[in-house]
This record gives sequence, C-alpha cells and structure tokens, in this order.
Amino acid sequence: MNTECWNPERELITRDKLEALQEKLFLETVQRASRSPFYRKKFEETGISIKDIKSLSDITKLPFTTKQDLRDWYPYGFLTVEKEKLVRLHVSSGTTGQATAVFYTRKDIESWAELMARCMYMTGARPGDVFQNMTGYGLFTGGLGFHYGAEKIGLLTIPSGAGNSKRQIQLMRDFGTNVIHIIPSYALRLMDVLNEMGINPRESLDLRIGYLGAEPYSEEVRQRVQEFYGIKAFNSYGLSEMNGPGVAFECTYQQGMHLWEDAYIMEIVDQHTLEPVPEGTLGELVLTTLSREGMPLIRYRTKDLTRIIPGQCPCGRPHRRIDRIQGRSDDMFIIKGVNIFPVQVEQVLMSIPEVGTNYRIILKKEREIDQMIVQVEVTDKVFVEDMRHLQRLQKKIASELRSELLVTPIVELVEPNALPRSNGKVQRLIDMRCN
Ligand SMILES: [Zn+2]
Repeated sequence: MNTECWNPERELITRDKLEALQEKLFLETVQRASRSPFYRKKFEETGISIKDIKSLSDITKLPFTTKQDLRDWYPYGFLTVEKEKLVRLHVSSGTTGQATAVFYTRKDIESWAELMARCMYMTGARPGDVFQNMTGYGLFTGGLGFHYGAEKIGLLTIPSGAGNSKRQIQLMRDFGTNVIHIIPSYALRLMDVLNEMGINPRESLDLRIGYLGAEPYSEEVRQRVQEFYGIKAFNSYGLSEMNGPGVAFECTYQQGMHLWEDAYIMEIVDQHTLEPVPEGTLGELVLTTLSREGMPLIRYRTKDLTRIIPGQCPCGRPHRRIDRIQGRSDDMFIIKGVNIFPVQVEQVLMSIPEVGTNYRIILKKEREIDQMIVQVEVTDKVFVEDMRHLQRLQKKIASELRSELLVTPIVELVEPNALPRSNGKVQRLIDMRCN
C-alpha cells in the first residue's frame, strides 16, 4: 500500500491499536467530563459511578447528551477547565431556539487543525497549492477549520469568505486557485455566474480539488459540480459541537467519509429507540469526543442520519467510513403519511439535465389537504423553447418525483434566477402548513 498520509502513525494505525487507543482516551474523557457541572449532575442523577466505566463497551451505560442539554446549560455548564485556559468560543445561533456555545483551549484548536490537515492532505492538497476558502468565517466553524488545516499543510490560503461571486472568480484567475472549499448550494449558484460571464472553468481556471459540506446534498449535485468545474469534489462532515469540520472526510477513493476514530467514538442508533442498529443500516450518528480538553461531550446525538459503510477502504485507513448525510432528523417532513428528506427531491431533480441549479419545496394546506409544490428553475436553453416542451418537462419531473417519493407533487417550472439566492446555507424547504 502506498497511501500518502499527513499523520501516518494515526491514519494507518492497526485496528487493534486504534481500539486500544480509543479505550484509553475514552476513560480519560469520562474522568475529565465528570468535572463539568452538567456531567457531574447527570451522572449523579442517573446513578453512574465512573468507577463502573472500565472499558469501551461500558459506553452504553452512559446517558446521551442532546442539543437541548447544551441549551439548558448555556453558557458554561459543560466546561471542564478554568476559563483562563480557553482561547476561543463559537456560538450557534440556533434557528429553532436558544443559542449553544462551544469552547476551545489552545490544545483543542491545535488538534482541530491537525484533523483538518489530515483531511485535506488525504485528498491530495500539497504545499504549492492555492486554496480559496469560500465559506463564512466568524461564528460559523466551517471557514476557520479549513483555514487552519490549509495553513498547517502549507497551502497558500485565500480567506475569501462567502459571497461576492465576481470577486471570487477574479481571485481564482489572478492567483491560479486550484483547491476550493464551498457550500454545495453556492457551488451551484457560482455555476450560473460563470455561465453568465461566459467563463468555462475547465478552460480558464486551474481548479483541481473541491471540498463540499455544511449542508446535506445529493450525489447528483456532486456529479454536476465535478463535471462543470473539472474537479474532484470531496464530501466533508463536521458540526460545531465536535469542533466544526474535520470529523469525517473522503479520501481519494470517494467511497464514503473516514470518521477519525482516534478523535471520536461513533455509534449509529435507531432515532426512536436509541438502540444500536446493525452495521450498514441507516440511523442517527452519536459521537463521543476523545481529544477535547475544554468541553468533552459524551454520546452526543447529532440528529444527522447516516450509516456505516461496511468493509475496508482500498486506501488502507482503518478508520471506518460513514455514508453521505441523508439529512437531519429535524429536516425530514411528512406529507400524506410519507417521510421525505429534501435531499431525495434534489437527487431526482439534479439527475434531469434540463433542470437548472436552484429549486425549493413548499408545503401548503389547501382545503385541509397537504400539498407539496416543487418550484424548479430550468436551464436558459429550455426556457426559450415552446410551451409544449415545457409541459412535457413538467410532467417528466412530476412523474420521476412520484416514483421516488410515492407522493405526487405539483411541479412549477420557473426561469433561471427566479428563485431567491443565498450565499450561505440555503433554505430549500418552506413549510406553510400551520397546525
Ligand atoms: Zn479511504
């Protein structure tokens, strides 16, 4: 095996050694966590004595931690160190309620940077490459995480941030950007801008590698992005509660994301019973931090739905892989008794060539009956064609959605750029059914 690694000792560790390391770090984590006000109380309430936690398999004796716990104990309830040891905090605004805060010691920032360096190096980024980081900096952890990883490897890093498409393109041209980090919906948006400017990135830009993450998206979008930009696009997974990005990442084989098991313990559980599911089955990802100093989290319910991909990756890394995130259990909507994730709609739409780069799903109640309206931007070329062609396309989209979702949506075709745009995470689902 000739796998080039940033940290070969950790990335190519044997499975046995990895599990022994996990156990050691896990026991230390439980010790450390028990010093925080939250876990001290939680362990007391649930009658857990840390003396009973002796091995990795004892993890199931420990209670889950939820987003609600982070809210209830905001701001300092999870700290295990003195405030003097902290160097950073990130706050998530929380679209559905009170904010949550995550704290980092200097060592936490360093281990985050180390994980990000592994991720990016694993995909082939090397000193001499020019990396344009096109996501928001600030309270959003995505921007800074990639920034740290890139600088640690020694990439020439352009912190261009989100938005301002023309300037992004100018920077790419002036400095020969070949590695980018971009939110998938913005990658689609930027395609329209490049098309409008008459720039073919395959001919006029030097792009080679792209990192896509921060929102669930379909394989079809990856294919479109790879095709259009002429890059290899890699899936990235993380969440601010676990530092940010750098939890799991694809290697060059693009067959699922290696979750760094020397930094996190993963469990996949049934989202209702919270019992573990068999390997390969879809469930909720639950994570325990192994190297967090300031704010360790035990059995944190991410609400993200995925599965473990069984078997070994050809790259030889023993860190098991998770599949692309299907969606958050919070995003799932129910219409006419069927459970649907927005990403399922996207998967169908993006496999149809006449469909453009933007869409949204609107749920409404009409005379007490739920209706699902899918608004779809079509490509420029289609829109100037005759009505009959548009009607055929409308029917085709409706029928393909019906066979995937088992629900018949109302499909509305709109011209390019008719739907609202965003430079950040995009809102694909608007639920107007008030109960
Ligand atoms: Zn691999």
